[in-house]
Amino acid sequence: MGEKNNYPPTCEEDCPNCHGKNIAYISYGLPNMDLARPLIEAGRISLGGCIVGPNSKEWHCNDCGAEWGAIDHDALVRNEPAVDL
Ligand SMILES: [Zn+2]
Repeated sequence: MGEKNNYPPTCEEDCPNCHGKNIAYISYGLPNMDLARPLIEAGRISLGGCIVGPNSKEWHCNDCGAEWGAIDHDALVRNEPAVDL
């Protein structure tokens, strides 16, 4: 299919709090704002800041603000060019 960009992923489940479907993927790190801005305005992603910790969540409900889901912390770290832990 030549599909090369599936970012951001789409949440397959409803919000566990309000059961809404208006769910954004939480993006960590410094975003490319040219790419991120339209996604933020569309409610597709939510910025989670630069610090990724074990309690960081994957999904953000645009309706009630609930956040849930365990992010793939190791995968994110691998994508960082210079992580010095
Ligand atoms: Zn919700």
